[in-house]
Amino acid sequence: MKKRTIEKRIIEVEGIPISVEWKKIKHMYLRVVPPEGEVRMTVPLRISKKAVKNFAASRIGWIRQARERILSRKTEKEPQYVSGEIHYLWGRGYALEVVEDASQNKVWLEGEKIIIQVSEKADKVKCEKLMREWYRRQLKEAVPEILERCVAVAGVEPDEWRIKKMRTRWGTCNAAQKRIWLSLSLAQKSPECLEYVIMHELVHFYVQNHGPAFQEYMNLFYPEWRKIRQKLNTPLGGQSI
Ligand SMILES: [Zn+2]
Repeated sequence: MKKRTIEKRIIEVEGIPISVEWKKIKHMYLRVVPPEGEVRMTVPLRISKKAVKNFAASRIGWIRQARERILSRKTEKEPQYVSGEIHYLWGRGYALEVVEDASQNKVWLEGEKIIIQVSEKADKVKCEKLMREWYRRQLKEAVPEILERCVAVAGVEPDEWRIKKMRTRWGTCNAAQKRIWLSLSLAQKSPECLEYVIMHELVHFYVQNHGPAFQEYMNLFYPEWRKIRQKLNTPLGGQSI
């Protein structure tokens, strides 16, 4: 049975607010919860506020680490489009610089920076759209040459390829219609990742599943595919810049 909360308070330990609930329970619980990294404690009635504070203080290192982990995961998923934020192009991280200028909305690479010029700095939606269009252009420019190389090796050619915003996949294909789709996020990964995904989809023109025959083709056409696949599935935040 869920125990009723008898008392609820926010305490602060080393600048971190902690919401504490006193309940008729035997043990003390400490949790850090997504998405904001909120710290919550549930404690038995007999434990004083001071004892709660002492306990939290003794775990402050762990609390900070857990919060950092949660908050970094959050920013990885939801870019804020503010200056200084790291964004990736072809496997390299660049600091974003957001410039307010009503004359023209555009994105470009300048030295170690990706610059977004936008009519209103705080317009996250517009910044995101501009970045997306920019990534799409980068991919559109890069794909033909890599595709040509893959086609020469694989001996099959798609009738059509498209770039799509995909959440969970790097690429898909329709072998019957000889069409391949590539994830927009591939512009953030190194070019060899793009090459691997293109080759992978081309091999599906021969073999629909990922069984031994598929792997044979991959070994033949792109011997280092396993290594690149691993790289592809390593989160970008984990890479150094
Ligand atoms: Zn596949």
